[in-house]
Amino acid sequence: MMKPEHFIGCEIGDCGCPEETYIFNDIDLIVHFEPDGTADAFMDGGDWGECETSVEGFTRFAARLAVFAWAESMTQGPQA
Ligand SMILES: [Zn+2]
Repeated sequence: MMKPEHFIGCEIGDCGCPEETYIFNDIDLIVHFEPDGTADAFMDGGDWGECETSVEGFTRFAARLAVFAWAESMTQGPQA
């Protein structure tokens, strides 16, 4: 199931966009929602490493699901 273990909170980023923070499979996951529907996602897992991506979604909900799918695939790879 593509679901983060913990939703930490939502803040407004430096550029004014909403940012949501999660703990996903023990990795910090930050999702930054741009006004054009793009969502930038960043994972920071310490020893695990870092990675980021950008997804598009018609709604914030759709973008969020796309980010979770990406995070799921990243954390299930050989480095997880
Ligand atoms: Zn922004």
